[in-house]
Amino acid sequence: MTINRTTGLSPLKARGDMLMDEPLIFERSSEGRPGVLPAAPDVPAVDARKFIPEKMLRDAIGGFPQVSEIDVVRHYTRLSQWNFGVDTGFYPLGSCTMKYNPKINEAAARLSGFSMLHPYAPEETAQGALQLMYELQEYLADISGMDAVTLQPSAGAHGELCGLLMIAAYFKGIGAMRHKIIIPDTAHGTNPASAHLAGFKVVPVKSEANGVLSAAAVEAAMDDDTAALMLTNPNTIGLFERNIKKIAAIVHKKGGLVYCDGANMNALMGLVKLGEIGVDVVQFNLHKTFSTPHGGGGPGSGPVGVKKSLEPLLPVPRIKKSGKKYSFAYDRPDSIGRMKAFYGNFSIMVRAYAYMRRMGKDGLKRASEIAILNANYIRERLKGHYQLAYDTPCMHESVFSDKLQQSNGVTTLDVAKRLIDYGYHPPTIYFPLVVHGSIMIEPTETETKETLDRFIDAMKAIAQEAKTSPELLKNAPASTRVGRVDETRAAREPILRWKPKTGI
Ligand SMILES: *Cc1c(COP(=O)(O)O)cnc(C)c1O
Repeated sequence: MTINRTTGLSPLKARGDMLMDEPLIFERSSEGRPGVLPAAPDVPAVDARKFIPEKMLRDAIGGFPQVSEIDVVRHYTRLSQWNFGVDTGFYPLGSCTMKYNPKINEAAARLSGFSMLHPYAPEETAQGALQLMYELQEYLADISGMDAVTLQPSAGAHGELCGLLMIAAYFKGIGAMRHKIIIPDTAHGTNPASAHLAGFKVVPVKSEANGVLSAAAVEAAMDDDTAALMLTNPNTIGLFERNIKKIAAIVHKKGGLVYCDGANMNALMGLVKLGEIGVDVVQFNLHKTFSTPHGGGGPGSGPVGVKKSLEPLLPVPRIKKSGKKYSFAYDRPDSIGRMKAFYGNFSIMVRAYAYMRRMGKDGLKRASEIAILNANYIRERLKGHYQLAYDTPCMHESVFSDKLQQSNGVTTLDVAKRLIDYGYHPPTIYFPLVVHGSIMIEPTETETKETLDRFIDAMKAIAQEAKTSPELLKNAPASTRVGRVDETRAAREPILRWKPKTGI
């Protein structure tokens, strides 16, 4: 589709301003069209040349866009509307828990008492913030069945690193350093990366044909040099690692620890206490489970919970409560130190706290139950239209593949791109790696049955198109401003800066 870059209107389908291919602000420029006309000064004018060094003076800025105020407003407003987010549509991105975040949590995070608080304000003037952090730690400990929690890490992967550094410190502390971490193939990709970063050697183990880890596989891999097993539970194919108790006993018997990647806590709240089934260290992703809008890659918050034996190793400062007074405790000789400047991403803690207080224990449990129900509803209804990687009930997400579409030359990527034409953000694709051509769908608990039904209808229609007119999928998306891009090239050679001919 050719688009007139000046008016932005497509000669094929003049669908109005909402579907414009927005030109660059520089392309909207028109010589001599000022945005703002300042009023004439009411003080005597002076020559700037007298005060500003010669080399810093210039008569004009080459290539500077000359646009009216309304041009500027429309330009940036339109760009902002191109963003797809959970506030604009269904976002079934598996592994990411793109659930709706109640706006009241945003309002709480913006309260000036929180948002304007200086991190070095005296403790007496920051009691509310300290209390919030202290109580949030307690809630997380309660949800996970752990003994103590730090809020410092700023993402899930950062929490993993923090947990692994504590595990390393633990073995160093008892004078018997261990060097290996066992990680199953159904773990999240950040797990081996974090283990490597913390100085460990990664020992991969294979999950069974049914998608979960067997006790026998762990038994065979576990030895005296293994510091920990790092398990994602529910794992990345959305299945609960049901042998975890047995597996944890094997690891503990050989003196190892059990790390659980708890980013999928949205499936466990109020249903499973990880601390009670053998987990020693777990990280939470507040930005997934406990309300924070995702976007632009951050910010995040990845608190870490530990069992008593690891509590002295938690990062400093800790938050102390004596009577009704809260304070920071820095004097902790066994601590691994700091993971982050100040205390972590505070505004995300406020959102999580507000979310938990509003939901209550029962509400959180209900959220997990419905997250699981919604995922299984989609799984059941799409079964037969797409191949199910593991045909057993799932937790909060389910993984399909393109196996049934392959005979028509249609791949997972084609299905994902075609979904855009139906108005949906595609699910996670080609992850997890254990499933060839995976399509990973996580609806979350915040979607209505009507939304799920419409999405299912779209997925079914696409499965039908794959049989009757695969070219529709091969050429998708057809309804967007930009069609299918070379994603590798777009990632490797992003054009982030417009270079005016005259130079700025
Ligand atoms: C998202 C996710 C992570 C990584 O979390 P970040 O906040 O992106 O660093 C780790 N493990 C699992 C299972 C995840 O879903």
